[in-house]
Amino acid sequence: MKTYLGIDWGGTFLKAGITDGKGKLIRKEVISSSQLKKKDAFLAKIKELFGIFKNYSIAGLGIGAPGIINVKQGFIYYLPNIDGWKNYPLKITLEKMLGLPVFLENDANVFALAEARLGAARGKSRVILLTLGTGLGGGIILDGKILQGENSACELGHIPVVLDGKKCSCGSKGCIETFVGSKHLIERYRKLKKKKGGEPQVHDILSKALEGEKEALIVWEEFSYSLGRFLAGMINVFNPEIIVFGGGVSGAFKLFKPLVWSVIKDHAMWPHLKKLQLVKAKLKDAGIIGAAFLAKDNLDDRRG
Ligand SMILES: [Zn+2]
Repeated sequence: MKTYLGIDWGGTFLKAGITDGKGKLIRKEVISSSQLKKKDAFLAKIKELFGIFKNYSIAGLGIGAPGIINVKQGFIYYLPNIDGWKNYPLKITLEKMLGLPVFLENDANVFALAEARLGAARGKSRVILLTLGTGLGGGIILDGKILQGENSACELGHIPVVLDGKKCSCGSKGCIETFVGSKHLIERYRKLKKKKGGEPQVHDILSKALEGEKEALIVWEEFSYSLGRFLAGMINVFNPEIIVFGGGVSGAFKLFKPLVWSVIKDHAMWPHLKKLQLVKAKLKDAGIIGAAFLAKDNLDDRRG
């Protein structure tokens, strides 16, 4: 049986898995990303993974990487949260090393692909997915395909919403990420608490809100308002059938969904809302599965 290796390359963990042609995960390995910051260590680990998986007949490797990539050339321009990877031809390097076809995409785009094929958006043809975490990642799937440019497109988190706002991880100012990223939520909460709340994490702010604490509720209300306004714009542009929320902050989905929905209703064009659903992501290993689909799709296209 032909298999595909998918790699979900995150700032904290690198997860690798073998899937069959239908996206079923057969085997998985998880490695701490802190050991892989240097290129040599990263390449050696990929080689080691191939050793571990040598009994599967791997047809191709797909990688979801946390940054800006030329998808045609598999060339990394930069990874905002991992230093030392500017302007690097990862596809060519790995293909020479492994003797296998390699494909690269942005991590949120492959996450979206997996959720659209097998997860919360299965069967839908117009899908927007957001990964809510430290930053805001996004992907758009139209008729089962990632909406791509020459480079990894759909950097939804980096749509500027305020002309002269806070500095963003992308180097610009006032992006929507600076309003809904977990870093901002924590900062806002600490400010409201006058820094008396210790060093809270997003899940602490969620528990406090569920207990009815005023400051925590303000954080989620502001978050929902920003996210709802932003999504109203996305809805007007793309007319999605479904919006999928993934990433760590989506743990608060039940809390923010009604607020986000009410903001969307006030600001998006109403005919676009008739069939729209807001749902939480479903797959446990969407990053791996999507990356494996990326490899399979590209190989199928070559043959086709
Ligand atoms: Zn930005």
